[in-house]
Amino acid sequence: MSDVKQRLIDIPGMDIILNYEWVQTWLEKLGRIRVKRIINKELADIRKKIIESEENRFIDEEFKDSCMSSFAFASRPSLTHVINASGVVIHTNLGRSLIADEAVKAMCESASHYSNLEYDLKAGTRGQRNSHVEDLLCTLTGAEASLVVNNNAGAVLLALSALAKDSEVIVSRGELVEIGGSFRIPDIMNLSGAFLKEVGTTNRTHLYDYERAITEKTSMLLKVHPSNFRIEGFTTSPERKELSKLAHDNHVIFMEDAGSGLLVENDILNLPSDETNIKTCASYADIVTFSGDKLLGGPQIGGIAGRKALIDRIKKYPMARALRVDKVTLAGFESTLRLYAQGMYDEIPTLRMLRLSPEDLKTRAEKLAEELSRRINALIRVIEVEDAAGGGSCPEIKLKGWGVSLKHKSEGAGHVQKFLRGLDVPVLCGARDDEIVIHVRTILDDEYETLISAIEGAMNA
Ligand SMILES: *Cc1c(COP(=O)(O)O)cnc(C)c1O
Repeated sequence: MSDVKQRLIDIPGMDIILNYEWVQTWLEKLGRIRVKRIINKELADIRKKIIESEENRFIDEEFKDSCMSSFAFASRPSLTHVINASGVVIHTNLGRSLIADEAVKAMCESASHYSNLEYDLKAGTRGQRNSHVEDLLCTLTGAEASLVVNNNAGAVLLALSALAKDSEVIVSRGELVEIGGSFRIPDIMNLSGAFLKEVGTTNRTHLYDYERAITEKTSMLLKVHPSNFRIEGFTTSPERKELSKLAHDNHVIFMEDAGSGLLVENDILNLPSDETNIKTCASYADIVTFSGDKLLGGPQIGGIAGRKALIDRIKKYPMARALRVDKVTLAGFESTLRLYAQGMYDEIPTLRMLRLSPEDLKTRAEKLAEELSRRINALIRVIEVEDAAGGGSCPEIKLKGWGVSLKHKSEGAGHVQKFLRGLDVPVLCGARDDEIVIHVRTILDDEYETLISAIEGAMNA
């Protein structure tokens, strides 16, 4: 009988399915609620198919296969280790900065033990969570006071709300940036209750543009780091020094959203001298905000550093409580700052990867190619590649890198990339002229074995 109703009736009920032998191990592994949910979804799919076409009916084996693959998928953590063979160091989609081993230890310790998070051990009274990093951050940035919140978007929102609500904030039209879709300066401004006053043009904004825009309603001049784009050619914007003087002559605040948060001298990372550095910003601006997990190389936080009177106002603003940093992150951030204070830059993975020399990278690529050649029969070459700092840090900075390219005997690069993404430890790599390209800069020492097996599997598939 091919009547729809009969084919629907032929589908076994939940109680019967739950008693199937192949379901039993999954009941244990996943728990009854999740197994039932998955089966329900599979059954709904079958019902839909039966209604859609006369061809479709319930087939035991097909149902079993489909359920088993859904069970297996559900049994793996969704958030999982991925090998970054893209050469993009601060890869926003892959979790931005990796955290230093020392910092990871501190994070584990603070996660699994009680701590003096908000307890002053000397006085035996309530303490401040911010106190664990404030002095370090001031030492490293040169600022009078500082505060750490959940992320930089929160830092900018909080600072604008606490310092500029119901007044005008002047921003150059060349700096009205959008970062990663959801962070847009005009929207954040709106949300904060401050009024955006745009000045200048996209490519040129002069000091007199700011000067003319200042009125008694103005509370702040805001400079924003154009993290993910560059305007080139006929451009101009005032120096920090000039903006700072203009703001102070007019008794308004000069704030800078530094974005990436470079915390060392630029030459330590081989970055151009004009790349935004927190220390430089803090020497001119009254308030500087920055991310913890971009060029700083720490966990996700938003830093606010600057003049004490202003930081005090921000600390007291009720929104600060809603954006506060959690203890695990705070422990990781403190530990990262300690590494900075000790000058142990190569302990910080983001800094280490950015500092790797082309010669070092070439040696790594050659070693990888040699190992792969021993196992795989394919065209394997060591090639020069372009790596990037990435992560809305400094877009124009391309890094000279090295990698290994491999050509599959019959499949295109897209196919191989897809295979690599589907593994238990997925590998994300580049492609060029139908060859996959493994950039070695972002590969960790303990990932090579897994990586080599993955590539072997992909090239032999
Ligand atoms: C990245 C960035 C932000 C957002 O920082 P998050 O840490 O992602 O919240 C804000 N402003 C600038 C200029 C940035 O580059």
